[in-house]
Amino acid sequence: MKYYVGIDLGGTFIKGGVVNEKGEIVKFERIPTRTELGADFVISDIENVIKQLVGEVGEKVEGVGIGVPGLIDSKKGEVVMSGNLKWKNVMIKDRLQPHFSFPVRIANDANAAGLGEIKFGSGKKYSTSVFLTLGTGVGSGIVIDGKLFEGNRSAGAEAGHMIINVGGNQCTCGNKGCFETYASATALIRETVAAMLNDRTSKMWEVGSIENVNGKTAFDYYDKDESAKKVIDEYVKNLSIGIINIANILRPEAIIIGGGVAKQGKNLSDRVQKLVDAGIFARELGPRVDVLTASLEEAGVVGAASLAMQ
Ligand code: BGC
Repeated sequence: MKYYVGIDLGGTFIKGGVVNEKGEIVKFERIPTRTELGADFVISDIENVIKQLVGEVGEKVEGVGIGVPGLIDSKKGEVVMSGNLKWKNVMIKDRLQPHFSFPVRIANDANAAGLGEIKFGSGKKYSTSVFLTLGTGVGSGIVIDGKLFEGNRSAGAEAGHMIINVGGNQCTCGNKGCFETYASATALIRETVAAMLNDRTSKMWEVGSIENVNGKTAFDYYDKDESAKKVIDEYVKNLSIGIINIANILRPEAIIIGGGVAKQGKNLSDRVQKLVDAGIFARELGPRVDVLTASLEEAGVVGAASLAMQ
């Protein structure tokens, strides 16, 4: 059996795992991303996570793959720009490679996760699919005829920055109205908090305080609380609009939703599927686009490891 390390560098957590060649995670670590301390700190945290995982597994590791949000030059190993990490021109591969005897590879986080899903997850049965990750931001991985499509200098597949509302919410990328400012977990939490502050009688206050709100809160209270229902209905509507736009451009066989929010499973995908079926170009006259949630618990980690398997 061969072993690889996959690191999913998110705006909130650095997740790492030792993944075997069957795509199974055999060791897992998660620490907060100390974005506020800057790139140097975060990179040394990543180095430590890799070293710890390698030590724990006690097997030869063939390589490490790292999925990073933002514009990544995977050939150079450079984070050209990451709005969510507030990084510019960080040569992450050069910084990490000297510490390891196995190769270090990097790619955009959502591209890596998409690769993981088609290799080992629910994307396996489709040849053309789009993987969407809903987390701090919204990322996408586009798979066409079984191959990842990354765009020129791997700068494409940034569905999170498709503008779905002209003059809308401010995005970390500098534009307004980007899909991710409506469909990310960050947006869902922001809207849940706003709804609670607006409705002091909301049952969602049972969570105690605003600090305890997460991407699950409004889903949990959907059937019991009018404010929670409104938040979810609006969230699902916006998510579906973005998905319809992607579907109309690529008409993939499937759109697979990953990230923390995807833990809702059918509770989320059935609602989105209904709106997509009703809003997609040519409706049922065209081929259906399946909307489903990721089957890998940690698509980002497995996907990052699969970068190293290539
Ligand atoms: C970034 C993407 C990334 C996504 C998810 C977006 O803000 O632009 O590159 O894949 O967040 O992390």
